[in-house]
Amino acid sequence: MAIVHFPLKLTARRMIAPSVAHLSFVRDDGLPLDYIPGQFVQVHFEYADGTSARRSYSLATIHDHALAPGEAVDIAVSYVPGGAATALFEGMPIGDQISASGPYGRFCLLPADANRRYLLIGTGTGITPYRAMLPQLATLMAERGVKVVLLQGARTPEELLYGDDFRAFAATHPGFRFVPCFSRELPQAGSMHAHADIRHGYVQNALAEFAPDAEGDIAYLCGNPNMVDACFEALKQDGLPIPQIRREKYVSNK
Ligand SMILES: Cc1cc2nc3c(=O)[nH]c(=O)nc-3n(C[C@H](O)[C@H](O)[C@H](O)COP(=O)(O)OP(=O)(O)OC[C@H]3O[C@@H](n4cnc5c(N)ncnc54)[C@H](O)[C@@H]3O)c2cc1C
Repeated sequence: MAIVHFPLKLTARRMIAPSVAHLSFVRDDGLPLDYIPGQFVQVHFEYADGTSARRSYSLATIHDHALAPGEAVDIAVSYVPGGAATALFEGMPIGDQISASGPYGRFCLLPADANRRYLLIGTGTGITPYRAMLPQLATLMAERGVKVVLLQGARTPEELLYGDDFRAFAATHPGFRFVPCFSRELPQAGSMHAHADIRHGYVQNALAEFAPDAEGDIAYLCGNPNMVDACFEALKQDGLPIPQIRREKYVSNK
């Protein structure tokens, strides 16, 4: 089937970490964007030599229904030195359009799941699918008492993307545990990230503490491919069957 392209118009940009931009778009052809939290869109552009290029970005928007025309389509873009899409997004004026397609992907919460707990693990912008899933998680916690542990990897407190959103959600949802893992630098005493439930080190090293359990757990891994592989191996060693480990690796479509 032919891929349908649609225009996304940039409406706002704000830096949420030194090299990560939160970009808001609206779908600009008058149609809604129906998506399932966890899915991604692709943007289409051309390299300088005219050949076509595409890159994938997870939807970060917190919503529980299709996005109507005019409702924000949010993504978080990590600016990579020398990156083709990075240059495009960095230089894009507010009001300009980009061609997009999708949404795509199956990195989503499944209605048939009967687990007791979700272990959600992400590093860098790989955390955005979980931000989009927050309304669904709220429903699942309320309806079937599922517990959620979010292990978020960041090098430093200033690179903890959407930490405020997750912290606020945890404060109002007792079944949701938010555990930032800082690999390089811990928060200063008294800073907003200095709550007790933080870890020093990589997310894969914090996993064992949460005693992954084949009977009750489903794990989601998203972001840096090395992290995804390391957590996948650790979870398999803990006895989690492969269908209970769902993965999304952020690799470039080159
Ligand atoms: C399903 C899926 C979802 C994705 N979602 C997101 C998302 O929500 N946010 C997001 O920022 N990215 C996401 N990505 C990655 C994204 O599609 C691009 O690969 C990324 O933005 C780099 O594109 P670029 O054109 O700027 O760099 P490229 O021109 O592709 O790469 C330039 C150079 O940087 C290196 N490089 C590429 N990516 C990284 C990186 N992350 N860190 C360090 N070096 C890198 C490349 O190896 C290359 O040497 C996702 C990828 C997939 C497959």
